[in-house]
Amino acid sequence: MSSTDRYAVIGEHIAHSRSPQIHALFAKATGQDMQYGLLDVPPERFEGAVNEFFGDGGRGLNVTVPHKQAALRIADALTPRARRAGAVNTLARGGAGTASDVLLGDNTDGAGLVRDLSINLGCMLQGARALLLGAGGAARGIIAPLLESGLAELVICNRHADRAQQLALEFREVGQISALSSAGKDFRPYDLLINATSASLNGELPLIPPGAVGRDTLCYDCAYLDRDTIFVRWAREAGAARAVMGLGMLIEQAAESFLLWRGVRPDTAPVLKALAKS
Ligand code: NDP
Repeated sequence: MSSTDRYAVIGEHIAHSRSPQIHALFAKATGQDMQYGLLDVPPERFEGAVNEFFGDGGRGLNVTVPHKQAALRIADALTPRARRAGAVNTLARGGAGTASDVLLGDNTDGAGLVRDLSINLGCMLQGARALLLGAGGAARGIIAPLLESGLAELVICNRHADRAQQLALEFREVGQISALSSAGKDFRPYDLLINATSASLNGELPLIPPGAVGRDTLCYDCAYLDRDTIFVRWAREAGAARAVMGLGMLIEQAAESFLLWRGVRPDTAPVLKALAKS
C-alpha cells in the first residue's frame, strides 16, 4: 500500500469542487507528500463513508454542504472554535496533538473569511458595522471570528427570522450582535454586507433590508461560481464600493485545514492568483 497520506473533500453534488486543485497546489508548494480526492455522498452514506475513509488509513477530510452538522456529531473531540460554531468543516485523525485514533473536528470557515477580508481585500474590520445574511452552517462558523476581529456591531438577517434570533442569543457573549427581521427597515448603510445564504447557488437573491448598501459598503458573497453571482451583480447595481465572491474564503479556510493536518501554513497568494485566472 502507498505510504502517501490521503485527504479528501466530502460533500454532496461536489463534482466541480476546487478543493482538490487548491490542496494539490499547497502540497506542491510546501513539498508535502499527500493525495487529495473527492467523496460525493448523500447524507445517509456520510457516516459510513467517513468510517471507511479513516479505516483505510485516510488522514483528513474537508466537510462541506450538507454534512457539517453530521461531522460535528461523529467527531471524537472538537477544537474550541468548532464547539462554539456548532459545525465542523475539517476532520483530522490524530490532529493538533491528539492521539492517532482520535477523530478531531475543527471549523476553519470563520478564520478563512476573516483572513480573506482583512488580508486579501484590505478591509478594516475594527470598528466596522456588518450585516450578515443567513443563519445556516456557514453563518455559525463565521460569527465569532468576525466579532473577535473587532466589529463594532453585527446584525443577522435570515429568511426564517427565528434562526437569526437564535444565533444572536447564542453568540451574545462574544460581542455586539442582534437579529433583524427580513421585513425590518434599516436606512443606514453598513460597512460590510456578507451573504452567507445559499441563495446564489440557485440563482436567487435573499431579502436585503432597504438602505443596507451605500457607496462605501463592501459586499461579500460566501458562494462562488465561475461567473458573477446574482448577489454580486445586484451589489454592483446597488452602488456598493466592492462586490466579491468567496473564492478567497475557500482558499484561506483550506490553508487553515492544511495547517492542522500538515503543521505548515501554505502561502495562499499564488493559489488565489492561479485560481482567479482560471
Ligand atoms: P446551509 O444550508 O446551512 O444554510 C443556508 C442558509 O441560506 C439558511 O440561512 C437559509 O435560510 C438561507 N437560504 C437558502 N436559500 C435562500 C433563499 N432563496 N433566500 C433567502 N435565504 C435562503 O448552507 P451553508 O450555511 O453551509 O452555506 C451557505 C453558503 O455559504 C453556500 O453558498 C456555501 O457555498 C457558502 N460557503 C462558502 C464557503 C467558502 O469557503 N467560500 C464556506 C462555507 C459555505 P433559512 O434558514 O431561512 O432556510
